[in-house]
Amino acid sequence: MQMNQIGIIGLAVMGRSLALNMADHGYQVAGFNRSYEVTKQMIEASPHKNFHGYRTLQEMVSSLEKPRRIMMMIKAGKPVDSLIEQLLLLLDKGDIIMDGGNSFFEDTIRRESYLRSQGIHYFGVGVSGGEDGARFGPSMMPGGDPAAYFNIGPILETISAKADDGKPCCMYIGPNGAGHYVKMVHNGIEYADMQMIAEAYLLLKYVRHMNNQEMADVFDDWNQGTLNSFLIKITADILREHDDQSDNDLIDQIKDASQQKGTGRWTSIEALKQGVDVSMITASGNARVMSNNESRPSAAQYFHDAKADNLGSSISIEDIRSGLYAAKMIAYAQGFDLLKQASNAYHWDLKLGGIASIFRAGCIIQARFLNQITDAYERNQQLHHLLQDPFFAKQVKESLPALRKIVIQAIHAGIPVPSLSNAVSYLDMYAARHAGANLIQAQRDYFGAHTFERVDRAGSFHHEWRRSS
Ligand code: NDP
Repeated sequence: MQMNQIGIIGLAVMGRSLALNMADHGYQVAGFNRSYEVTKQMIEASPHKNFHGYRTLQEMVSSLEKPRRIMMMIKAGKPVDSLIEQLLLLLDKGDIIMDGGNSFFEDTIRRESYLRSQGIHYFGVGVSGGEDGARFGPSMMPGGDPAAYFNIGPILETISAKADDGKPCCMYIGPNGAGHYVKMVHNGIEYADMQMIAEAYLLLKYVRHMNNQEMADVFDDWNQGTLNSFLIKITADILREHDDQSDNDLIDQIKDASQQKGTGRWTSIEALKQGVDVSMITASGNARVMSNNESRPSAAQYFHDAKADNLGSSISIEDIRSGLYAAKMIAYAQGFDLLKQASNAYHWDLKLGGIASIFRAGCIIQARFLNQITDAYERNQQLHHLLQDPFFAKQVKESLPALRKIVIQAIHAGIPVPSLSNAVSYLDMYAARHAGANLIQAQRDYFGAHTFERVDRAGSFHHEWRRSS
């Protein structure tokens, strides 16, 4: 009897798509879903000679060749711990469990350590690309025991997306939680990228007074150049879409309140813990929060007058494109700065250039300029900050005036640009000759004797400040 090479548990959108992707590539895939009805529906809707659905977990596990490879594609959180306990009763030492869901990296670190003590290899696998990516080639970020990677790497790399140079968008990321960490930061960058594009849309709409069709053409045009990316492309498609329930464009019928599942928030919390500034990612998360603030309509009544009604059009489409490009580079630089810090803090030895290269296709943040990020880290593996790479330094410097211009115009006009404006603030703080921190230190020493360092000699100093009455 032919044994299956890999088992997928959880056959919702992502699990079923990955299973069919593996089956298309010739792997014998075993599938199990807690509710058998879902497995049955999948087999009826997408029968595949290489996919075999099972009614019980035990049957599915027994159908696998050893060492067994099992990928969980289920709801993150407690269900993963519960499923691991069920699997432990059925697995042998040396078997491999992968978690392809959006698990929090600290949970993955804990689970990897626990399962290692049970003789099971555990991989946290970041998967990006949504349903289409999973079905036809996602970007994959596996983290776990490097010595066991050879057992799963070939399958994951085979089914992953391929970049223009044919390289797979999957590589071994690092030990324990490294894969899920990189996926988390990927999602944080995704939040910032989406928010920046939304801000550019507001500028085109309210400063350039463009209609949806005209804006779609602009995004299509931008997609031919340095901004070429999945998110810019889909924005053009979205702006062209007609509503099937009214005479309007669909974009104008969608409620102005955005949702989130929390991975962007995790990135911000983790960045605060690591002492890394990811202000654009945080601003983007906050923008989603504020978009849901129920008192927005009354605030608009209070403050709308403060906004210039006649906005004029002192910024060009090219200013918006160029400013967006600058901000995009700064957002990615923030994300990669966090990865660099995490690599040191968790001893992961992350290959930042390689990580940029596996984002080049299959994932939501895929973009042409990721090639340049890979090149930057290949040029200098010790690169302290992406914005200090000669290519990025030059590109940001050239497009910075446009970014300043569109932010000034937006602020003048009362158009919310939290992400774009944070890009400017971040860069100004990063590049500041004088950040004002000397005054902060003086205040700390004044009220708390926290001491300060001096510019003219080494050591910590406290000063007896003269206190006015
Ligand atoms: P969902 O996140 O909607 O999860 C549904 C699946 O989880 C079903 O198969 C469900 O089984 C199973 N499940 C829920 N609770 C349990 C439990 N206690 N024990 C066993 N199985 C359980 O599915 P998606 O396909 O959207 O996502 C799967 C994972 O991939 C999630 O972690 C998600 O965050 C992540 N992900 C999703 C992406 C997307 O675009 N959707 C992109 C990248 C990652 P049942 O049918 O019996 O309820």
